[in-house]
Amino acid sequence: MQMKTIASGSSGNCIYVGTDNTTLLVDVGISKKKISDGLMEMNRKLDEVDGILITHEHIDHVKGLGVIARSLNIPIYATRDTCNEICRMDALGDFNYGLLNHIEPDKSFRIGDISIEPHSIWHDAADPVCYSLFHKGRKVSIATDLGDYDDYLIHSLAGSDVLLVEANHDVRMLQVGPYPYILKQRILGKRGHLSNEAGGRLIRSLLNDHIKKIILGHLSDKNNYPELAYEAVKNELSGNEYADDVREFNLTVAGRNTPGELVCL
Ligand SMILES: [Zn+2]
Ligand SMILES: [Zn+2]
Repeated sequence: MQMKTIASGSSGNCIYVGTDNTTLLVDVGISKKKISDGLMEMNRKLDEVDGILITHEHIDHVKGLGVIARSLNIPIYATRDTCNEICRMDALGDFNYGLLNHIEPDKSFRIGDISIEPHSIWHDAADPVCYSLFHKGRKVSIATDLGDYDDYLIHSLAGSDVLLVEANHDVRMLQVGPYPYILKQRILGKRGHLSNEAGGRLIRSLLNDHIKKIILGHLSDKNNYPELAYEAVKNELSGNEYADDVREFNLTVAGRNTPGELVCL
């Protein structure tokens, strides 16, 4: 199984996960052109994508969906309430709603040779989920847009070989930054986004002896820096039982607008 972030940040998200036979995208919150270019780096084509998994209806996760669905017949998977919200979004324009497939949290389904498990998340959307993807005993989990996490989510993400977890903001930068008060409260709330420290604590509870790669994602444009997110999470992970040196976990920060490295399992 392979995984690569094509874009990950508050202004657009798209993650590629694939095998020799199956190509999937988790979210399409950037332009069709950027997605095509990102896939091209792995010699994959957008019209060969077998499925698009949508986490929730916020524009940074669905921006490219209308254009893609109007031009290509790629099945789209999302919870029923997320599908309903997508259908109501003027920003996406008309598209073939027959491409939408309803999924449910905790009900596994399969696309090609990849099994997919959606997990419910705390976020201010209709019925948001994050995903774990399985192939040949390997598990890749992608968990962003969380205001909080609980034992259910820790249990759901446990045992992952590759983890993409949100490190959205530095709390102090957010507090003194330019956002309106109401938006700051939303981001800091239980259905908002994980701070660097909270993301680090979630990752710490998910460490195991076979984890191969940890990627920090969905960084805020205005309220974070990649170096700050990295240092804050590294600090949360230091002194853990699985490794003395966090470099052993291969911790990196996903590019907000540039594709990340290809992770192969
Ligand atoms: Zn969101
Ligand atoms: Zn988002």
